[in-house]
Amino acid sequence: MKERARFAPSPTGPLHIGGVRTALFNYLIAKKNGGDFILRIEDTDSKRTVVGAEDHIKDSLKWLGLKFDEGPIKQSSRKSLYKKRVEELLKKGLAYYAFDSSTELEDARKESNGEFKYNYETRKNMINSFTVSEGEVKSRVDRGGYVIRMVIPEKESITVNDEIRGSLSFNSNEIEDKIIMKSDGMPTYHFANVVDDHDMKITSVVRGEEWLSSLPSHLTLYNHFGWSPPKFYHLPLILKSTGQGKLSKRDAEDQGHPVFAVQWEESKGFKESGYTPEGILNYLALLGWKGKDENEKYSLDELVNSFESKDINKSGARFDIKKAVWINHLHLRDFSSKKILSLSEQANLLLEKKYSNDVCEQIVDLIKERLNTLFDVEKEVFVFVSQPKVYDQGAIEKITRNTIYNVLNFCKLKEELISEPLLLKESLMTFGSENQISFGNIMKTLRLCIVGSLSGPDLFKIIDIIGPEETLHRIESLTNKI
Ligand code: GLU
Repeated sequence: MKERARFAPSPTGPLHIGGVRTALFNYLIAKKNGGDFILRIEDTDSKRTVVGAEDHIKDSLKWLGLKFDEGPIKQSSRKSLYKKRVEELLKKGLAYYAFDSSTELEDARKESNGEFKYNYETRKNMINSFTVSEGEVKSRVDRGGYVIRMVIPEKESITVNDEIRGSLSFNSNEIEDKIIMKSDGMPTYHFANVVDDHDMKITSVVRGEEWLSSLPSHLTLYNHFGWSPPKFYHLPLILKSTGQGKLSKRDAEDQGHPVFAVQWEESKGFKESGYTPEGILNYLALLGWKGKDENEKYSLDELVNSFESKDINKSGARFDIKKAVWINHLHLRDFSSKKILSLSEQANLLLEKKYSNDVCEQIVDLIKERLNTLFDVEKEVFVFVSQPKVYDQGAIEKITRNTIYNVLNFCKLKEELISEPLLLKESLMTFGSENQISFGNIMKTLRLCIVGSLSGPDLFKIIDIIGPEETLHRIESLTNKI
């Protein structure tokens, strides 16, 4: 049978990174087995639907490159299917009308100190198909304002199998007769979800761990219909960096990192914060899954190949932004310079004013190793287009002003060597040993003068690219400031 996995978000808000990870694992499970990845929008709760949320979901998947083979399929357009299925259960006596008003339900809750569950026992004292005559059921149904509940059998042990957690048993007496059709004629999440998974021939249900407790009700629905259930995978939670509790938007903001793939209202996404889809997908895969070897860097195709659902972890995974940055770095470092330039418009603009395409790419080759996010591209190419705006004062004091002055003066005297970096290097070495100046300090002086600080790409390569005139200019500038 062809593998079919669906990502089934409710458009009740923007797509959080946890939802993105669910989408990714669905994708991996489907594609690993040459199957289909389907997007289903679970929008049966119109009161909770948020304008723009569906677009946010689609935009996020698009940016990440998680292409769906079918969809988006919207539940709101499938009302007649749910109605037909509910009638089937009503006919079989496995679902029933419940007419209790909200006050009656509230009273029942109060009487039981908030412990009330609508179930095999309490339903006997409520107003529903079991307690009123057939005629009254008819007339109440005609009047409207009812809900339909599913029957949860009494005293049964419901055993469910989760591919990640193994088999789990639930006591049916603890489970409520869930509402499956609301008074507005729309199905609830539980009902539409099961009916659709069956109707869409879903073979793997991959979702967050918070849905595990709904699984016995869902399985009961499969039994009621006589359908065989798909495989279930309940993914571990994504935890805050402290490991305590689920990662929220607030935690992410406190730690100064995004929680959405793409921007939502005022909140920037990973996209707008300089991350790459490759890096984010790779990092999210590692939140809950680990490959067999020590390899950390995977493209989406490599993930599809290496992924084994049996390697998904049971326990929650801490969100670690430092690791996300590292993984992003591993991808950026391997991008072609052309691609990096196309992704960093600002850097491209700066460079193309001064250099040919070839040189622009050479420059990016020199800085690739230093990129964590795409924002770093602009920062790193700056040294190739402009003299330093500030100099690292701490470094100046350490090297000493006197040494800096002497080294720079020597370079000015050897002006003709500036276009021959290798010869320059050699004569600087001789100058150093004759004047008791360490070669380390000579290099630091030159770097400080060209870059403004003690880090940056290969110094002589920078000198080669910016050319002798600009190098001399930078030597003059620092000499004047020292
Ligand atoms: N609509 C549910 C959600 O937003 C889907 C859960 C499921 O995949 O069954 O989480």
